[in-house]
Amino acid sequence: MTKRRVLVCGAGGFIGGHLVKRLKAENCWVRGIDLKRNPFGNQQYADEFIVGDLRNPETCHYMLEGGIDDVYQLAADMGGAGYIFTGEQDAHVMHNSALCNLNTVEAARQCRVKRIFYSSSACMYPEYNQLDPENPKCTEDSAYPAQPDSEYGWEKLFSERLYFSYQRNHNMQVRVARFHNIYGPQGSWKGGREKAPAALCRKVAEAQEGGTIQVWGDGKQTRSFLYVEECVEAVWRLMDSDFPGPVNIGSEEMLSIGELAQMIIEISQKNLEIEYIEGPTGVRGRNSDNKLIAQKLGWQPHAPLREGLEKTYAWIAKQVRLEGGS
Ligand code: NAD
Repeated sequence: MTKRRVLVCGAGGFIGGHLVKRLKAENCWVRGIDLKRNPFGNQQYADEFIVGDLRNPETCHYMLEGGIDDVYQLAADMGGAGYIFTGEQDAHVMHNSALCNLNTVEAARQCRVKRIFYSSSACMYPEYNQLDPENPKCTEDSAYPAQPDSEYGWEKLFSERLYFSYQRNHNMQVRVARFHNIYGPQGSWKGGREKAPAALCRKVAEAQEGGTIQVWGDGKQTRSFLYVEECVEAVWRLMDSDFPGPVNIGSEEMLSIGELAQMIIEISQKNLEIEYIEGPTGVRGRNSDNKLIAQKLGWQPHAPLREGLEKTYAWIAKQVRLEGGS
C-alpha cells in the first residue's frame, strides 16, 4: 500500500509535534512546517521539516510540492491566558492566524489536497453560555449567536467558516475540531505563551518547600483539560472518518483552577500555599461536551486528569532542574 503523504502545519509547536510522532506511527510519510523547529526535538520524527512562514502564500505552495494527500493545519499565533486574554496581542493574533488559514486553504485547493484538518478552539463559544462556573454550555450547536470573549476566539470562528466555505464551494474535504485545553509534556512551559497547567506546574516546581504560588483570578473559574496523546488520537479518528465536524475534542472532567493548582501541589508532594492574584482568566466556566464525538467517532478520553498531570509535572520539573543547572 502506498504511504499517505501528510503535511503538519505548526509541527514545531506542542500538539503539532506530538501529531507528527503519531502520524509516523501510523506509517504516513510526514512533512512538517513551522516558523521554528520543535524545541523538544519532535521534528526529528518528520521525514521532512520546512522552516517557513504560512503568512507567505508562496511558502504555502512550496510546502505542498510533490503532492500531499492530507493537511493538518495547527499553526496559529497562540498562547495561554497571559497571551490571548490581555488584549495586547489582538491585532497580531487576528492578522497572523487568519493569514495562515487563508493561505493554507487556498494553496490546498490549488494543489488538490484530498483532506484538510483545522484546529479550532473552545474559545469560539459564546461567553454568555460560560458565565456559570458550575454549568457551562459548550455543545457544538451552541456557537450562535456568536459572542466569543477574545479576538483569538473570533479568528477561530472566522476560520472554521472559511474552511467550511471551501468545502461547500470547492468540494474540498474538511475536518474541524474544537480543542478544549490540551496539556502534556513538550509544550510551552515558560516565556508567556504557556497555558494554565504548564504554568502551574512550573510555579510549583520552582517553589521552595513551605512557600507560596500565585494563581490568576479567584481560583473558582472552571475548566477541563485533555492529555495531548488523547487529543491526537481523536484528531486521527476524525481525519479517518466521513464526519466533517465541527466537533469538540476535550475532556468532561471539569474542575476549578484552584483545584487544579491543589492537585499539582499534591503531585509535587510539597507543602505550598496558594495566593490568588489579579490576572487574565478568560470565561468563568468551560467544559467539553463529548456527546457528539462519542456518537460520531466512538471516542472518549481514557485517562483521568491526575494521570496526565503526573507525567506533565515530572517533565516540567525536569526542565526547571535542567535550567537551574541542578
Ligand atoms: P503552539 O503555539 O505550540 O503551536 C502553534 C505553532 O504554530 C507554533 O509552533 C508556531 O511557531 C506555529 N506558527 C505560528 N505562526 C506561524 C506561521 N505564520 N507560519 C508557520 N508556523 C506558525 O500551540 P498548540 O498548543 O500546539 O496549538 C496548536 C493548535 O491548536 C493551534 O491552532 C491552537 O490555536 C489550537 N488549540 C490549542 C489548544 C491548546 O490547549 N493547546 C486549545 C484550543 C485550540
